[in-house]
Amino acid sequence: MGLNLKLISHSYLRLIYGVLGMIFIFPLYSYGAEVLVISTVKPHYDLGHRLQYIEDKTGELALSEITSPVMKASWQNSKVETPNFGIAADSAYWFAIPLFNDGLHIADWLLEIGNPTIDVIELYILPQSGLMAGEYSYRLDGGNQYPFSQRQRQDPHFLFPISLEPQQTTWLYLRVKNSNTMKLPLTLWQEEAYTSQRQTELIIQGAYFGMMAIMAIYNLFVYFSLRDKSYLYYVLFVVTFSAWMFIEKGLAFQYIWPNGVWQNSQLYPVLASISIGSTALFTNEYLSLRNNHPTYYRILYCLSLIWVVITLCAFVLPVSFVMTLIPLVALPGGALLLLAGLLMWKAGLVAARYYTIAWTAVIIGAMTYTLLILGIAPSNAFTENALQVGSILEVFLLSLGLANRINTARKEKEAALLESVELKSTIQETKFNFQQKINRELEGRVQERTQTLEATLDKLAEVNKQLHILSTTDGLTGVMNRRFFDENYPVEWLRARRERLPLSIIMVDIDYFKKVNDNYGHSAGDECLRIVASALKNLVKRPADAVSRFGGEEFVMTLPNTDFPGASHLAEHLREHIEALSIEIPGHSLQLTISLGVATTIPSVEVEPEMLFSLADDALYTAKDNGRNQVVARQMP
Ligand code: GH3
Ligand code: MG
Ligand code: MG
Repeated sequence: MGLNLKLISHSYLRLIYGVLGMIFIFPLYSYGAEVLVISTVKPHYDLGHRLQYIEDKTGELALSEITSPVMKASWQNSKVETPNFGIAADSAYWFAIPLFNDGLHIADWLLEIGNPTIDVIELYILPQSGLMAGEYSYRLDGGNQYPFSQRQRQDPHFLFPISLEPQQTTWLYLRVKNSNTMKLPLTLWQEEAYTSQRQTELIIQGAYFGMMAIMAIYNLFVYFSLRDKSYLYYVLFVVTFSAWMFIEKGLAFQYIWPNGVWQNSQLYPVLASISIGSTALFTNEYLSLRNNHPTYYRILYCLSLIWVVITLCAFVLPVSFVMTLIPLVALPGGALLLLAGLLMWKAGLVAARYYTIAWTAVIIGAMTYTLLILGIAPSNAFTENALQVGSILEVFLLSLGLANRINTARKEKEAALLESVELKSTIQETKFNFQQKINRELEGRVQERTQTLEATLDKLAEVNKQLHILSTTDGLTGVMNRRFFDENYPVEWLRARRERLPLSIIMVDIDYFKKVNDNYGHSAGDECLRIVASALKNLVKRPADAVSRFGGEEFVMTLPNTDFPGASHLAEHLREHIEALSIEIPGHSLQLTISLGVATTIPSVEVEPEMLFSLADDALYTAKDNGRNQVVARQMP
């Protein structure tokens, strides 16, 4: 370009000064630097191309040493818009530029250093005369080693006000040290021009961080409702990446920790590590690699573990070391993630398309930026903004992908729901049929068993009845036995008492029966007993009446609802009937008589059943005593 004198002057005077300047300044040019002629009509000057620089590897040289003629040969010309030396924490870099104010008045300018991460800045302003001795007229200090409040201008970028004497050459010497990337975007501004440019920049940054914040909040809510971890990792990425960029742009130092010198420097690599590391976690979840590609899942899991280690180291190790380490892992790691997206795309995963395109955008941005950090790529508008542009593209594409994921999940859920409803109804139908079959079978079986049981119970009842009859019947005579009388008599007593009806009993004893046995033998006696018993039984007609053999040749009759005259009459009738009876036994025909004792009462609470019985027994004895073959009847009051 040669001597690049920007003489955009309206006045002849300026032209004359300019020509004079060319003549007089030329010798200075031979000192090694092109003098930049500064005119107030231009809003700003980019100083990158104009700079001379020198690297002080010891970091210890002073201004006087730097300006000494010995060093003359070490100075180099910057050939780029923004000098970028990558990471070189131990070195101090010196930059020099001569400025000639071609105006007639003192010109006030702002020197802007557009890299907010720089730790140490020393600005020396030297008049032409002080150059050889390194004597400066004044010095300004800055950099992130000082709290934000100590800055001359409250701005994320470093700003130094500079006054240029008219028609004089003023030398600017900058000593810069940084643990982070050593790039130096250097611009000379007119105050108003800077302010308006700054406003535009802030609006753009505001829009960027606003979008990132919205994406983070929105996806956080999506995570809370869906509980799908990929949203959480996505939010982690967006938040940490934005925070990283917030430091990178100098906004964190201004707005979040104005006194946080340590945080501002140390959290830069920490946030970079977390945000880059979270992408590995996100990829695993988003592409469902645990199921889709278990080997890849393990690889990315290991990668994320490496990032956890780097993050922990980033808190304590020197920034320059971690910032050199990060690209070494981030570049191959990023390639791995991109490959995962491509593999899954090829495998037919729809979500992988969004992912791969998004990743291509951010990886291009990140690689460009990494090369910038390392000082390999030049610093310019494209490289400086590549990461932010890439990230915003990524964030939007991924959120489209995540929305697609919701959609897919919803469809899958609906299909599964439909399937499950169908399955459920089939199961219910089968269950119902089965139940019915079982019920029918069971009913059949129960009926069968019930019938058998009923039959058995009937039989048992019959047998019981038989048994009862047997146990209450007298074996010899066929009338009821003593046991029956003992059971039956108290029952009839209670019934008669309850109903206030008369109850009679008749005791019967065969007269001189011993003689029958003695004369005709016991079996003849037995036969006689049978005949008398059945005669007695046949004469007693009422169903409730009971004839029982009381023992030997004695019988007792229970006659419910039979009053005294009735019982007496019946007894007499019995006596007459037996007296008239001709009893046939083998070879003989016998005549027998009986004696009878009758007792009647209407049972009451005061009277015991035994008393009526004793009364009948007593009457029987009286009948015997009175000569037998007669009835004695007694009545209880
Ligand atoms: P009385 O007029 O005083 O009643 O005279 P009796 O001989 O009937 O009186 P007793 O009570 O002394 O005798 C009863 C007899 O009845 C005794 C026994 O030989 C006879 N006898 C008792 N039970 C049976 C029996 O089951 N079969 C037979 N063949 N004889 C019996
Ligand atoms: Mg007797
Ligand atoms: Mg007798």
